[in-house]
Amino acid sequence: MTMSNISLQDRKIGDHAIVMGASIAGLLSARVLSDYFKNVTVIERDKLNDRPENRKGQPQAGHGHGILPSAMAILNRYFPGLGDAVNESGGVMADLGSSFIWYVLGGYRKPFESGLLLTLASRGNLEWQIRRRLLEIPNVSLLDEHRVVGLMTSEGKTGVSGVRAVNLRSNDTETEVRGELVVDALGRESGAPRWLEAMGYDAPQLNSVEVDFGCASRIYERQKGDLGGASMLVINPGPMPNLRCGLIFPIEGDRWVVTLAGWNGDHPQADDAGFLGYARSLPAPDLYDTIVDREPLTQIGVFKVPAVRRFRYDKLDSLPEGFLAVGDAVCSFNPTFGQGMASAVMQADVINTAIGQHRNIKGIGKDFFARTAKIIDVPWKLSTSGDFQFPGTRGKKPFGTDLLNAYFDRVQKATHRDVVVHEAFLKVMNLSAPPISLFKPGIVRRSLLGRKN
Ligand SMILES: Cc1cc2nc3c(=O)[nH]c(=O)nc-3n(C[C@H](O)[C@H](O)[C@H](O)COP(=O)(O)OP(=O)(O)OC[C@H]3O[C@@H](n4cnc5c(N)ncnc54)[C@H](O)[C@@H]3O)c2cc1C
Repeated sequence: MTMSNISLQDRKIGDHAIVMGASIAGLLSARVLSDYFKNVTVIERDKLNDRPENRKGQPQAGHGHGILPSAMAILNRYFPGLGDAVNESGGVMADLGSSFIWYVLGGYRKPFESGLLLTLASRGNLEWQIRRRLLEIPNVSLLDEHRVVGLMTSEGKTGVSGVRAVNLRSNDTETEVRGELVVDALGRESGAPRWLEAMGYDAPQLNSVEVDFGCASRIYERQKGDLGGASMLVINPGPMPNLRCGLIFPIEGDRWVVTLAGWNGDHPQADDAGFLGYARSLPAPDLYDTIVDREPLTQIGVFKVPAVRRFRYDKLDSLPEGFLAVGDAVCSFNPTFGQGMASAVMQADVINTAIGQHRNIKGIGKDFFARTAKIIDVPWKLSTSGDFQFPGTRGKKPFGTDLLNAYFDRVQKATHRDVVVHEAFLKVMNLSAPPISLFKPGIVRRSLLGRKN
């Protein structure tokens, strides 16, 4: 045994960890846990092939996805060379300040070199690149085509001791997989809150905001000169009563994903005329002009988000031992700022911090969920404040939201002319600066008094 093997063995704190769900949150959680457990098993309902592809378990994956620089930096730390590989496979790294046409509230954000590079690739490609690297780790194994149907509880009901899953390859026979730690990365449809309650544990409180958001996407050929050479386009909704937005993101194979979306039931239709008509109705013409005379390469795929949801595991008085949850399983946002994957990645990284500090999985739940709640707070507040701009959004609106939105509109408008405000905004969007940084006197002055740069 080499010295490095010995030191890795020394770090192991358990025999077996189970990760439920093999999407972005699950893949990174498994990578983190492979440093601490002798064996890690990832259980996934879909069949996972060794190639890039969007799959049934992620109906959102066919819509425009980009991964923020803050999240890519974490992924590159666990999977060295990942970003370069995505790039080499035809993905695009685009500067959020200079390669991005972003229309918001009556104007385009003023371009500048931000150094913040958004990674754009199909979701299937991004995950395949991560998955194949994960599965090269000798103590990680994958149990695909297995649907998790429940959790197992330890004797004396002090914690979670494994999962129950049905084998979709063999007549739905049920299997039990035991482990000392179970991580829920099952996404927005996770049954874990229900399963925990059924076993006699407290269920986490659910905060929900009804947004009635719907999107439709299709793929087009990417041609030289599109978007005047820019790498991507976003057209935000507004001013009211416009509830519609659209985006064009590049993916490998010289293609564009074109996504149209709207809130409060104002959804794009999934037929040719409806799709184009919706594109024409956006507040700026760039998206429509790009696709109007072009043959689409695919049919239109739709996805609906009736409500955004946040489970407050962090507020539970007592948590079952051996259970953690990450990603959309804890909190799913509307995709306005594209922060869902970044939040998931940051939460999975906290598993490393929490286990690294405690050197034990016993009792880490409280600390883990307290830390991840702080990460989730920012995108949750940013996106739900945005949702409450729309009159049909239903839910508990935090005090001061309207005032915050009014100021936020001023910040957005200031980005049309002022790169200092634009840069401050991008850092908040990238989750690398707190929203409070937009209230620094210099930014407030520039946003409210209209100082030009
Ligand atoms: C239209 C749209 C656009 C978006 N754009 C962006 C973007 O640009 N940038 C960004 O960062 N985020 C974006 N998001 C958010 C992002 O898609 C999610 O935050 C992210 O997918 C969450 O990852 P996850 O691993 O937590 O869950 P998911 O990706 O939902 O994965 C859950 C996994 O669990 C599996 N699973 C579910 N149930 C079971 C079961 N019972 N047994 C076994 N396996 C099961 C599923 O098959 C799946 O593999 C967007 C979302 C939408 C809706």
